[in-house]
Amino acid sequence: MKIGWIGLGYMGTPMAKNVLKAGYTLHVYNRTKEKAQGLADEGAILCETPQELTEKSDVIITMLTDGAAVKDVMEQEEGILAGLDHSKIVIDMSTVSPEDSVLFSELVRTKEAAFIDAPVSGSVKPAEDGTLVILPGGNAEDIQKVQPIFDILGKKTVHFGENGKGASAKLVINLLLGITMQGASEALLLAEKLGLEKENTLEMILASAVGTPLVTGKKQLFEKEEFPAAFMLKLMSKDLGLALKEADKNGASLPLTKAADQTYGSAKEHGKGELDLSAIFLELKEQNS
Ligand code: NAP
Repeated sequence: MKIGWIGLGYMGTPMAKNVLKAGYTLHVYNRTKEKAQGLADEGAILCETPQELTEKSDVIITMLTDGAAVKDVMEQEEGILAGLDHSKIVIDMSTVSPEDSVLFSELVRTKEAAFIDAPVSGSVKPAEDGTLVILPGGNAEDIQKVQPIFDILGKKTVHFGENGKGASAKLVINLLLGITMQGASEALLLAEKLGLEKENTLEMILASAVGTPLVTGKKQLFEKEEFPAAFMLKLMSKDLGLALKEADKNGASLPLTKAADQTYGSAKEHGKGELDLSAIFLELKEQNS
């Protein structure tokens, strides 16, 4: 099975690297070409266009910013659709809306190829370690065919049903992620206002029932109050927006999600979009200074 990987950002690069390390022939394409050079140096084959990559691969994986980016890479003149035929499987691992996933499955089906929406739970460290949780939506037989790839990328695969269900599941888990991060940040903010030492507060949180791996992973960032991105805040803001849109359409009122969406939105407006999502703490601090 020859793999083609499109999108070599924070997540795509370590994920693709693991596929290469596992011994697969790997074709890579990234809009900003320099970002693909590292993988090429390690043995991946650089492609000039998504079409070329698709023609040379059996399985095409996209890991892009959002639905608009995936649509663009599919439909552009030398895009995925231009190189697709019935023998190929396209897997979109980006976080997009369920509607977009269904749309992509329909586009891919016009070429009689198969489509799986397979967003992931977990950030850069699990991507590096191959311990993501993969959330595929699509035909069970197609998923079975690419399971060896999912096993390289992740520690667990949870099949939620038809196309669009993987994307739905991803919005559910990211809603909880966004709220949890704001919750931890508010706790740290109140602790600071009450004159409690941050180190002790973090120690208390981490020893408690709500001491999640998320807070453990961000401990040093909170301590130093420096927030280099693993998961950019603007992407969390995108995901909360998608979750609220789905909630609206499906008759669910989500008060905490709405509040978190406002805070992430205002952090983005105040120039923190490219910092890590944990920079929500900085935003809350500034709002309370
Ligand atoms: P990222 O570092 O910003 O990477 C985004 C990738 O998309 C880059 O390769 C970028 O290319 C490409 N791209 C964007 N627009 C494009 C377009 N119109 N045409 C072609 N390529 C385009 O983002 P990331 O953190 O890897 O996240 C990727 C996806 O995974 C997002 O949907 C995100 O929500 C999701 N996710 C992220 C995390 C995380 O912790 N970071 C965890 C789980 C899921 P350039 O290099 O040219 O800009």
